[in-house]
Amino acid sequence: MIIATKKPIEEIVKSLEGETKVFIVGCGECATVTQTGGEKELAEMVAHLEAAGKKVVGTDMVAANCQELDLKRVLRKHKEAADETQAFLVLSCGAGTQSVRAATDKHVLPGTDTLFLGNVQRSMDFVEKCSMCGFCVLDDYGAICPVTRCAKGLLNGPCGGMSHGNCEVDPEMDCAWVLIHEQLKKEGREDKRTRTHAPKDWNAIAHPGKLVERRQLGDEKILKAAKKPEGE
Ligand code: SF4
Ligand code: SF4
Repeated sequence: MIIATKKPIEEIVKSLEGETKVFIVGCGECATVTQTGGEKELAEMVAHLEAAGKKVVGTDMVAANCQELDLKRVLRKHKEAADETQAFLVLSCGAGTQSVRAATDKHVLPGTDTLFLGNVQRSMDFVEKCSMCGFCVLDDYGAICPVTRCAKGLLNGPCGGMSHGNCEVDPEMDCAWVLIHEQLKKEGREDKRTRTHAPKDWNAIAHPGKLVERRQLGDEKILKAAKKPEGE
């Protein structure tokens, strides 16, 4: 899940200087769970903008703003309001905001600050466990990511600052390397604990990332065959 926080309303109003008509887009996925762009936040934003003298010409909740085709369909559905508005305020992650960018040439602005890919521990309690490095090495580390969960991203740890199992950067936090060693011990994979790891190959995450997979015709036929009910 993409974790974000709300931008201050003053910053949003400042970005809308000179513009009175606004269309607001919310997101039914991550932004709803993080309470930055769900139905409730969308209604609150309407009230904030109207109090600031803006006219909200339309709103919609897109199922997932990162789906660019869905986003285009939604803006087509609101063609009149989309034509009338001067700006689109997007209450979702930066990727969702850029889906709106791809659907219109008008002013598009984010209503959130996007932070990280997060695991949901409980309601409104998110933690970063993977920073999408492009080449996953979890198997060498007891499935606890040193790249992300060690404050220094050390591939060979712990560092000299670890104290009583806690991290020197944030003493409230467990040292990831203590967790890694304990986990490997539980698994009986002691060899992984003592091995020195070479520096990571960062070439796997050249930005911007891109992945295009096109299903082969042969695969389609196989899928159809697999779906046939028995006896056909
Ligand atoms: S090594 Fe860590 S940052 Fe890289 S993909 Fe695996 S979990 Fe994510
Ligand atoms: S104390 Fe542990 S988690 Fe913190 S920076 Fe050092 S090795 Fe990483």
